[in-house]
Amino acid sequence: MPSAFHNAMSQLTTAARQLGIEKKVSHLRKPKRILTATIPVRVNGTTKRFKAFRVQYNNSRGPFKGGIRFHENVSLDEVKALAFWMTIKTATVGIPMGGGKGGIIVNPKNLNQTELEELSRGYVRAFWKNLGPKKDVPAPDVNTNAQIMGWMVDEYGKLTGKLQPPVITGKSIAQGGSLGREPATADGGFFVLDTIAKERKINPKKTSVIVQGFGNVGGIMAMLLYRAGYKVIGVADSRIGIFDTTNKGLDINLITRLKKQKGTVDPTSALKPAQRKTIKKVSPEKIIEMPCDILVLAALENQVTEKNARRINAPILLELANGPVSPEADKILDARGVTVIPDVLANAGGVTVSYFEWLQNIKKQRWTEAQVRSKLKPIMIAAYRRIAKTAKRHTVSLRTAAFMTALTLLKK
Ligand code: NAD
Repeated sequence: MPSAFHNAMSQLTTAARQLGIEKKVSHLRKPKRILTATIPVRVNGTTKRFKAFRVQYNNSRGPFKGGIRFHENVSLDEVKALAFWMTIKTATVGIPMGGGKGGIIVNPKNLNQTELEELSRGYVRAFWKNLGPKKDVPAPDVNTNAQIMGWMVDEYGKLTGKLQPPVITGKSIAQGGSLGREPATADGGFFVLDTIAKERKINPKKTSVIVQGFGNVGGIMAMLLYRAGYKVIGVADSRIGIFDTTNKGLDINLITRLKKQKGTVDPTSALKPAQRKTIKKVSPEKIIEMPCDILVLAALENQVTEKNARRINAPILLELANGPVSPEADKILDARGVTVIPDVLANAGGVTVSYFEWLQNIKKQRWTEAQVRSKLKPIMIAAYRRIAKTAKRHTVSLRTAAFMTALTLLKK
């Protein structure tokens, strides 16, 4: 698999060259600080040690900001790439925050609740001196959630002697989380996609969509698209891909319920035999090659690489995951005229509402979900319009244009 950080630096180079500012952004070629730790957790009577990272990439525009990922494939390379993309992302949407990211090498499905709590609190004990509302503000990412953020904010309060909600975002509402944070990433992506759809006079009812990844981001996006009338003809989680051969669209209400209740996106057990025959089961990797009008990538990085980029059928790709398309694949897709709506724009709704949460905590305010969405929407649309204008003026992809708009704010 290509190195995610190598991919990230290659994207930086392309945009910096286009602007002729390579030297002025050379400080963005490495993180400001890399923190590592080993966290001990008692598992089945023995002590297991988990490797943990916090990468503080850039804080020239505000505190380091970025999620914490729990996954067995976490590596320093990956966390560095994700922290760099956070730096670009916060600048792309123009919020006063920097970029950071964290991770632990662990499969959290192998831990019980007590062990998971111990691991989460251990993460804060390892790094708390470098965290803080004005220093570094973590949030959830893959396999972490409001419950984990709750343990972390509580642990930080114990260590500093004072409960400080703005040190972490993505908390539960009871602990000072923002309404509208959970759907924010999908909401933001939807606002951008909807703007492009209107520009291109796309009729949702005649438009088929495949969504890879059915977690917080992909599951909610599938529902938003379904409710807006799009035909969601394919979905996938890490285990299976489901494709509707009738091209009419899957029942996303049913799939969402099954995912919550049984942990699967496979609806066949709940379908009548005739309907069952219309479903084709494929691998999560294969689903993205099936024919559709819009492909939403909402799982993990490096899903589209030079190996499969020529087999992608969709003319529009929405990157809700971070780094799902490699730079080599970008070139192939670009040459084929495929529009890639880049991660640093498409999934920036999450960090934007995280910023809203931080702001509400600091100002001791509570915004309604409607207020949150109405503040998010113009930020996403304005960012898209800035990027689209730059892309047109310089004849570059939306990704390079997004990096160009961000780099002008980050250059020295
Ligand atoms: P999640 O853990 O809630 O869901 C991830 C989903 O992807 C799960 O359904 C999982 O089964 C699926 N998946 C994993 N590997 C897969 C594979 N190989 N093929 C198909 N599906 C696979 O995580 P999430 O919060 O939804 O995050 C998804 C992506 O979005 C990540 O790249 C994350 O960094 C990015 N992102 C998340 C947020 C956020 O607010 N949660 C914000 C910005 C970006």
